[in-house]
Amino acid sequence: MSFWFWNGLRRGIQTTRYPKSMELERGVSPGRPVATSFKSSAEAEQAAGQCPVGAIVARDSVADLELGRCVYCQRCHFGARYPLDWKYDYEWAQIFPGAQDFAVLPKPYRKSLHVIVVDAGDCGACLHEVKQLNNPLYNVHRLGIFFTPTPRAADVLLVVGPVSENMRVPLQKTYEAMPDPKRVLAVGACAISGGVFGRSAMSAGGVASILPVDLEIPGDPPPPLAILHGLLVATGRKVPAAGAQVS
Ligand code: SF4
Repeated sequence: MSFWFWNGLRRGIQTTRYPKSMELERGVSPGRPVATSFKSSAEAEQAAGQCPVGAIVARDSVADLELGRCVYCQRCHFGARYPLDWKYDYEWAQIFPGAQDFAVLPKPYRKSLHVIVVDAGDCGACLHEVKQLNNPLYNVHRLGIFFTPTPRAADVLLVVGPVSENMRVPLQKTYEAMPDPKRVLAVGACAISGGVFGRSAMSAGGVASILPVDLEIPGDPPPPLAILHGLLVATGRKVPAAGAQVS
């Protein structure tokens, strides 16, 4: 017991300083592939062919990304014949392509945001990363962000998983029980595009087929700071990622 007391005093505060300053430690993000220029369109086509889920799209001599499909297998980078560049950032949240009239939540929500998480058929990976936000390293309470099990107290609906058939109705009911204004975040490739599960009799193939999605956070799973970035974008404390075209 006394060891942990003195160890805590010796090491000091370990909580990340993000979003005040960027967290640059190696390991806070697995990174992601980024659009890469090749010598010819043929090479870009070859690079696109390396992706098992069709997340790379050849546009002339550029291999571009649809990050909402990417399952972060890293095949297009490590050991690839036509490697794409890889970037170790984490501010990945994007406005969902169908959310034309997306607006950030009103200003009071910057200091007090309540989030309800729905596991809509998640494998456990994205949910595990979401849970990290409450640990001392990320400690989202310091930013006025709280998780709630009660839809009537929630401002943001954070969904992980491709939405299995059994979770379709509970997800809809959760959304309907939330007061306005509310925002929906699709977290991870499965929630955005269905991921490796795709669309089938038992999978809706993404949250957008059931609810109006406002923001998407690519990753498979996205690291905790990417999810935190999405929550900050919802309240206008951060801007959406620029450049990457997602799903
Ligand atoms: S990391 Fe993403 S883009 Fe690259 S091969 Fe894997 S799924 Fe495709």
